[in-house]
Amino acid sequence: MSSENIHLFNTLTRSKERFVPIEKGHVRMYTCGPTVYDYSHIGNMRAFLFEDLLKRWLEYRGFKVTHVMNLTDVDDRTIKAARSQGIPIKQHTERFIQAFFEDIAILNIEKADIFPKATDHIPGMVALVKKLLDKGYAYRSEDGSIYFNISKFKDYGKLAKIQVGKLKAGARVKVDEYEKEQASDFVLWKAWDPDDGDVFWETEIGKGRPGWHIECSTMSMKYLGETFDIHCGGVDNLFPHHENEIAQSEAATGKKFVNYWLHNEHLLVEGKKMAKRLGNYFTVRDLTAKGYDPVAIRYLMMSTHYRQQLNFTFEGLDAAKKTLDRLTNFMHRLLEANGTAGGDDIQQLMEKMQKGFEEAMDDDLNISIALAHVFDFVRDVNNLLDSNLVSREQALEIHNLMLRFDKALGVIGEVYKEEKLPKDAEELISRREEARKAKDWKTADQIREQLKTMGIVIEDTAQGVRWRTEKH
Ligand code: AMP
Ligand code: ZN
Repeated sequence: MSSENIHLFNTLTRSKERFVPIEKGHVRMYTCGPTVYDYSHIGNMRAFLFEDLLKRWLEYRGFKVTHVMNLTDVDDRTIKAARSQGIPIKQHTERFIQAFFEDIAILNIEKADIFPKATDHIPGMVALVKKLLDKGYAYRSEDGSIYFNISKFKDYGKLAKIQVGKLKAGARVKVDEYEKEQASDFVLWKAWDPDDGDVFWETEIGKGRPGWHIECSTMSMKYLGETFDIHCGGVDNLFPHHENEIAQSEAATGKKFVNYWLHNEHLLVEGKKMAKRLGNYFTVRDLTAKGYDPVAIRYLMMSTHYRQQLNFTFEGLDAAKKTLDRLTNFMHRLLEANGTAGGDDIQQLMEKMQKGFEEAMDDDLNISIALAHVFDFVRDVNNLLDSNLVSREQALEIHNLMLRFDKALGVIGEVYKEEKLPKDAEELISRREEARKAKDWKTADQIREQLKTMGIVIEDTAQGVRWRTEKH
């Protein structure tokens, strides 16, 4: 079965491994979601687009995928942002949660099955911290905060490949994000301090709020089980976030937490990571406001392999748009084709390209190779179309195959959806329908010609009238 040939690069082992889910045919996948303190930038979107491609590919190969993506709606950044606005944290994050959903919809990212919010899972986090205290992996500091003792967890550092032996015993870190060199006991529960304002929970383990890492351990295990298949995020999440998730989860359950860890490389701007704190970022809305096509943003991000850094430029975005136009023009041409069948050639070309595309995608989503197969094919078929050597049936078969790939890519179907008819064309089409009903073929033909001069091609099918714009 083809689904047995998928190989994914596992950060745990730093090697490509054959992907075998715990339950046959069913993948359980957790992806770290947005921190909803502000709009996501397109660097964040690169992570979500990679995860979308992965999920769509698994679905293409016949797996059922249960996908959980959390919403980080309480952490250092969300508290700081809400306080600087002088509004309750919920009010602040709710606005950016809505914006996030709008952004992923516009980029045609499939929704996760569950989008758990950290603030809805505080009791689960408290229970997990208690368990770690009971088992002796955690301890309380002078200010009442609770820390994870990394020297107690023998596998600490296995994901980021760091040697704990070299670290200073008992050193602690309270912030959510820090460097590998600062690896030390990390915070599970932060005792309230005045900077937190009204953001706290009164719980069995004290008045305070969770650390960022315990949020993801709690929500992933709640919805996917103590051991699940895939966990994703950007490379910046590898340490400390994912390392700490492993430590907390495995120390609590005694079981392996995740089988495959996948990390996407960064989107860069002039050689630096796109990041809010560097001010070198664009949001999806910044780009659409400038007139850029969101499908081109999707294509640009997706067409570079996820483990390669990608430098964002406007030239790159323009080039992505041009490539997309080539694909859509090809699709339009296929719908117009009505030539003579040119022999077995086309069947062979189709088989070759499908095999090439699928094998490349199975190989750790090797999108560059997969797309190269598609574009070789497009060039060959375009040549045949130029010589009128593609029959209507063949063209429709090719059209269907392209749409099948597009289930994984999510770019061609979107272009179709975006096209809207101008109002006067809509009126002409309905007038033509009336004429046809009245068997007034002359008027119907006249209107068809008129639409054609407007660049709109009409087709009468068994399902009713279809239209498309002619782009040449
Ligand atoms: P955040 O909203 O900061 O919690 O991040 C959401 C996701 O975006 C995480 O998976 C990050 O690792 C990822 N991410 C952040 N910046 C970038 C970037 N410049 N390129 C690619 N992924 C990123
Ligand atoms: Zn996370």
